[in-house]
Amino acid sequence: AVTREAAEQWIRAYAAAIAEHEQALTQLDMAIGDGDHGANMHRGFQAVLSRLPTVAEGDLAALFKLVGMTLLSTVGGTSGPLYGTLFLQMALRAQGKHELAPEELEAALRAGLDGIIARGKAAPGDKTMIDALKPAQDALRQALNQQESLPEALRQAEEAARKGRDATTAMEARKGRASYLGPRSVGHPDPGATSAHLLMECAARTWV
Ligand code: ADP
Ligand code: MG
Ligand code: MG
Repeated sequence: AVTREAAEQWIRAYAAAIAEHEQALTQLDMAIGDGDHGANMHRGFQAVLSRLPTVAEGDLAALFKLVGMTLLSTVGGTSGPLYGTLFLQMALRAQGKHELAPEELEAALRAGLDGIIARGKAAPGDKTMIDALKPAQDALRQALNQQESLPEALRQAEEAARKGRDATTAMEARKGRASYLGPRSVGHPDPGATSAHLLMECAARTWV
């Protein structure tokens, strides 16, 4: 199940993955954006790490709220408010809970994805983080509906996120800075879809 401890492990794993991939994310954003996605995400998640002790006694909602608020306040780029929304929506679904069932995690992530869509108004195919997150979410729900275990469902979600990320290469950007390039955005993977895949990869590595 999704305990407070496991969720923190997931967040810590993601902060480490972002640190490891900071340069690669920046390179991707240099090709079709302004070259700061790695730095934005790294700044945000280092701030999250430094503030984690303040919610050591808190429940799952307190943890997710801290992540969301920190991303909103420390990440200047578009991705900060969007990832911030994801975690704030998850916090609402985890109110008063120290543990989530797999279906509750799925519902929390679904609310987070809906929040990103409501805020950023991107649709699948626009070459954004949605193109990794939505297939992952759909795979997660389908696997859980088929009575798969949480680890297996997250494994399938990670795989779907990876395919979604890869599919952004051929897309023309219709949202965010990359859309200014029009057809010239084709041929490069989307930075946000890449960081979104990493988030699912860390989840799959956490719940094994
Ligand atoms: P900025 O573009 O402000 O420099 P980042 O570089 O940190 O911010 O993030 C860029 C990423 O944000 C893109 O690769 C894309 O995945 C994502 N993004 C941009 N606009 C949107 C949107 N409207 N909806 C969803 N994701 C978006
Ligand atoms: Mg950028
Ligand atoms: Mg920027």
